[in-house]
Amino acid sequence: MPIAEIISVGTELLFGEIVDTNASFIAQELVARGVTLHRKTVVGDNLERLQGAIQTAVDRADLVILGGGLGPTDDDQTREAIAAALGETPAEDPELLAWLRGLYSQRGREMPEINRKQTWLIPSAQPLANPVGTAPGWFVQKGGKILVALPGPPRELKKMWREQVLPRLPVPTRTLLHTTVHTQGIGESNLAEVLGDLTKGSNPSLGTYARKTGVDVRVAASAATEAEARSLLEPALQQVRDLLQKWIWGEDDQTLAGAVQAALGGRTLGIIEAGSAGQLCTLLAGQPGFHDAAVTENHARLITLGLTPVTLRDQGLVSEAAAQELASGAREHLDSAVGLAVVVSVAGQNAGQAYAAVDSGEVQRAVAVNWPGDPEQVRERAAVAALALAYRSLRPGGWER
Ligand code: AMP
Ligand code: MG
Repeated sequence: MPIAEIISVGTELLFGEIVDTNASFIAQELVARGVTLHRKTVVGDNLERLQGAIQTAVDRADLVILGGGLGPTDDDQTREAIAAALGETPAEDPELLAWLRGLYSQRGREMPEINRKQTWLIPSAQPLANPVGTAPGWFVQKGGKILVALPGPPRELKKMWREQVLPRLPVPTRTLLHTTVHTQGIGESNLAEVLGDLTKGSNPSLGTYARKTGVDVRVAASAATEAEARSLLEPALQQVRDLLQKWIWGEDDQTLAGAVQAALGGRTLGIIEAGSAGQLCTLLAGQPGFHDAAVTENHARLITLGLTPVTLRDQGLVSEAAAQELASGAREHLDSAVGLAVVVSVAGQNAGQAYAAVDSGEVQRAVAVNWPGDPEQVRERAAVAALALAYRSLRPGGWER
């Protein structure tokens, strides 16, 4: 397997003003093809350091992909740096010059002199056409190594990667298959414990990722053929499904709201939200079972929706009892088969405290969430917890499935 490195060029990337999405794109593309990726480097717009980074990368890797620094201005020095690193001298390429001049004249303009360096090539570089910008890329082959330079704008880089670079790369065609299993209600370290040695393999490989909707487990396998990859993936995936069954709400593109919709099985859902500013409604928007909602923190109104004055006085609005009364109230007052309520405190002494409750007639359940954060995070976590509660309570097989 070839060993690759990625170098992203630009001071704005180095200083964190923009996020290096190009490197993440290229990395996924390489890994999916079985290329071994060893390093990603970010270098500012500095000729000496860029030249050094290229030399080091070319020494230790077979394939080096550079993104950025191909613009016309003085700070864009990727071409100069590659030439210096390889000891070659750049020269204008007449064909590229004619092409770039043509591009400008089509727009009724004359090519500025500073753009001339975008028409440079070195002897070991082939030009990579850029159909959506003024910077051609370079495909450099030297001493058994390959070096690719692409312009930084993601739209240009991606298009050129697919159309110009991939067909030229001598990467084996390997199939990578992966499935992401979504869980809720179990922390990342507990989940790792449950999975045990399964997480240690490299093919199939398992990775866990904490997301807003819970912890995801990504199972991946690669092989020369799709059938082989599948035969590696499936047993591991099945083990993950079996071990985590209780906490799983979906896979791949499925959403938690979609899982709730499926678990409703045709029943209607009414929502009451106090303190979460409509977050739960937002998450459920577009689900056909979502029937009606009340979003309010007004105590008098909440009392008309099922909250009892006694609970309000003795336990407060942000309490498990209040959430339960409002879940039942949502069924009754919002004329829904299933009621779901969430009560949230985003400020003051118990900021971060939230309760969610569900009532389907047959099943009543509640959960508490206590996780401080800024108001937006608190509302979002509470809404996600409410959805997860609804899903796990309503799904076929029930809570402990
Ligand atoms: P450059 O090719 O260095 O002139 O980059 C042009 C523009 O492309 C930059 O100003 C960024 O907006 C964008 N860009 C460059 N590199 C990256 C990267 N690694 N990830 C995301 N955007 C980038
Ligand atoms: Mg730049």
